[in-house]
Amino acid sequence: MKRIGKESVIYTFSPKHKPVEKVVPGEYVLFETEDAFGGQVKGEETPPDKLDWSRVDGATGPVYIEGAEPGDTLVVDVLDIRLQERGAIAAIPGYGGLSHLSFSPKAKVVRVDHSFVYFNDLKIAVRPMIGTIGVAPEGDEIPTGYPGRHGGNMDVSELGIGTRLYLPVFVKGALLALGDLHAVQADGELCVSAVESPGEVLVRFDLMRGRRASWPILETEESFQVIAAGRSLEEAMREAAEEAVRALMRARKTTFEEAYMLGSLLVDLRINQVVDPLLGARAVVPKGIVCIEDFLTGH
Ligand code: CA
Repeated sequence: MKRIGKESVIYTFSPKHKPVEKVVPGEYVLFETEDAFGGQVKGEETPPDKLDWSRVDGATGPVYIEGAEPGDTLVVDVLDIRLQERGAIAAIPGYGGLSHLSFSPKAKVVRVDHSFVYFNDLKIAVRPMIGTIGVAPEGDEIPTGYPGRHGGNMDVSELGIGTRLYLPVFVKGALLALGDLHAVQADGELCVSAVESPGEVLVRFDLMRGRRASWPILETEESFQVIAAGRSLEEAMREAAEEAVRALMRARKTTFEEAYMLGSLLVDLRINQVVDPLLGARAVVPKGIVCIEDFLTGH
């Protein structure tokens, strides 16, 4: 097993980064990650509006996957996520889904164990997930705080243990990095942060050659989910929904109109987050009606 330490941190996804490790498909890889605040929120005394933003949203890596070529799909199996026993959350004026309202900056550090997050007198079930996971784009670097076709800061609540993520590969070796673990996050990530926890992620990679999707695809036990982003939720929704309808067309060997109608009956549109520089939505297609190949095309 290879271990990637959290000192190997990047703040952009870029084809120019030198990989910190080379791994082969099938190998176990453990990523150690700092929390999305860069460990700066120590407690209620931390003023969350005075953070050093250059240390926020880091991702551990990048890792070079042997054999990955542009046009391929990188398959990432999320085998385990282990969190440290603390998480930080902050409400920051000017940020979040309610950024138009006036409120005070507030930070909170909460205890996290295997089962629960302890928020004041509430026990909230832990649901560990990866906020940021992506590969290098082919052109200009993309800050790790952005979601996009390369993955990145997608903040999808369902991207947890036991799921499989399919990422389009744009550069040789893919150059994958990940971070921004959340102990629990609801769809939307309303206040701009979730329970941001340092921790470790165990993954295994695989490759599908010569075909890829236009956006990352998440596979859960029940569904395939197109994860898209845009300047508005509407734009993100359209990107995700179109990709889902195209997959239905391929799966059913049918017309756009037929697949569009089917989408209305079977495809759930969900919000990922409303707080990052680009907003995120996903289209959730039940398994049984499509398979992963229906999302992939040759380029
Ligand atoms: Ca995030």
